[in-house]
Amino acid sequence: MIEEKVSIFGKMLNIFKDNIKNIKDERRQRSDLKYSYADIILGAFSMLYFQNPSWLSYQKKMQGINGQSNATTIFGIKVPSENHSKKLLDKLSPKVFKKVYDDILLECERLNIISQFIFMKKYLLVAVDGVQYHSSQKIKCKCCQTKKDRKTGIITYSHVAITPTIVHPKLKKVIALFQEFITNEDGADKQDCEVNATKRWLDTFDILKFLKKKYKIIILGDDLYSRYPMIQKILDKGHSFILVCKTTSHKALYKTVEAYKQTKSVKTFTTTRIHNGKKQILTYNWINEILLNGNTKDNIEVNWCELRIVNSDGKQLHCFSFVTDLKITKNSIEEIIEAGRTRWKIENENNNTLKTKGYDLAHNYGHGDEYLSQNICSLNILAFLFHTVQEFEDKNYIEVRAIVGTRREFFQTLNMLTTMFAMRNFDKMLEFIIIQRTDGMKVDDVGDYIVGRCFLEL
Ligand SMILES: [Zn+2]
Repeated sequence: MIEEKVSIFGKMLNIFKDNIKNIKDERRQRSDLKYSYADIILGAFSMLYFQNPSWLSYQKKMQGINGQSNATTIFGIKVPSENHSKKLLDKLSPKVFKKVYDDILLECERLNIISQFIFMKKYLLVAVDGVQYHSSQKIKCKCCQTKKDRKTGIITYSHVAITPTIVHPKLKKVIALFQEFITNEDGADKQDCEVNATKRWLDTFDILKFLKKKYKIIILGDDLYSRYPMIQKILDKGHSFILVCKTTSHKALYKTVEAYKQTKSVKTFTTTRIHNGKKQILTYNWINEILLNGNTKDNIEVNWCELRIVNSDGKQLHCFSFVTDLKITKNSIEEIIEAGRTRWKIENENNNTLKTKGYDLAHNYGHGDEYLSQNICSLNILAFLFHTVQEFEDKNYIEVRAIVGTRREFFQTLNMLTTMFAMRNFDKMLEFIIIQRTDGMKVDDVGDYIVGRCFLEL
């Protein structure tokens, strides 16, 4: 028998399995032990990988076709019941998945995926943002954030995750890193917040350490982050930053900028472009080494820059402004602004994709009392990472995505196939879609080919 090459999907799955096989199992009752923690985790992950909206229907169809189970052939597991899965996932801290993400990132480095994200010769842009993945006035757990409406007194319960991603201005794809959750610790009087969660994330963000000689990190973030403590934290961790800096929240800094403008000592550079058939004038302004906070304490020197875009009538269309630790020159200004603007990619490519374009991040698969909703969120983003790596590396996957169109249609196709057939493995499922859509093969031949190669014999 010819040994088949392990696909990128298979490789990532092995990395995942290696990482979760030794999770400490504290269950005592023998009846509970029918399924291992690995079965439970992979069962939930597989449902999210296929973006099946219902736990129950997923479980039923993966359970088997004439005794053959797609869960076994594709993921190598038995699918545990919904209640059993939820109960156990609720007890497990999502921190166990950090190393899975990290090891997949190392695999991305080996596959030369990371190097495709290099910007300005040696930098990797890591955009950081908070994304809400649960909001309800009824469903809650002890980790929920609470917000009381002043007028109505109604309390809203929500969950937010910090979802860092490696981005590049020219690439549509983004690489998801392990997230940090905004969560309330037992006994804490004050609620946790995005800034604190991001600081915790910076403390644990160590995976690229080994790559440091090769890459330097630039943290991209919105206006919330361009404050002294966060900037100091980023610098302490050895990273650079390009952070949004609005006039409304940085009054002292903009007073200085205004003074520089009055004396015409702001460095400036103007260029034009044709955008959608219309002429635009782009003006870049910058000042190196100015104080972030005027003269108050907790101050820090930053470099400030802005891009103003006006049309031929002089009407301002856009204004983007940032602070950074990178030295700004006529040669670097355009790239620094371009990098800063890539922050919006995390909203468009990552958060929107996760919420509305196929990955139902806000879909309620269950909330639990402790960690269930965090685990579902983390496994969902991990599924997104699997798909991204496949989009980079897996020839068949790329072809199928081109054939099937939108992400939603892609998931519908996968779900339909696992409902109807018992596939040999995931790669055979991709092959089947390609054969189906490829002209030039007689129907009978297709039949024989498929049965032999893609399906299990029933
Ligand atoms: Zn909750």
